[in-house]
Amino acid sequence: MKLCSACLLGLECRYDGKSNLEKASEQLLQEFRNGEIIPVCPEQLGGLPTPRSGARICSGDGNDVLDGKTHLLTDDGQDVTKQFIKGAYGVLKIARDLRIREYIGAQKSPSCGWRYTQGGLKERKTVEGEGVTIALLKRNGISIRLDK
Ligand code: SF4
Repeated sequence: MKLCSACLLGLECRYDGKSNLEKASEQLLQEFRNGEIIPVCPEQLGGLPTPRSGARICSGDGNDVLDGKTHLLTDDGQDVTKQFIKGAYGVLKIARDLRIREYIGAQKSPSCGWRYTQGGLKERKTVEGEGVTIALLKRNGISIRLDK
């Protein structure tokens, strides 16, 4: 069993109320249909609504958020650091409770991004680094995979 960013599997949980289904491979969707994957959305698990304002990590990446060195702000200036951390720990709890060792992430997300996330001091842009959930899962020995 694996966990996967829910937006990749067609759930419309993205900040703009859309999904990332067009970015999913046929192999991933087949694994989902086979019952091998559980979809999760850390931002929803953290209590954020959908749709919601886009968010960015103001400096560094998700590791710096976990270490208390930076925070997340939405496009309309709200601090959503607590919600992002809560959602990341929610995903970790599911992984631990179900003994899941693999997470399939979505690219360029401030939560689920691996290699690229959303950053920027004044406005949101794609930057190198990991999202908050990916950083937490990696610290806890969960392997991360990108679909393609
Ligand atoms: S938090 Fe993750 S699962 Fe939720 S919409 Fe963003 S990329 Fe998709």
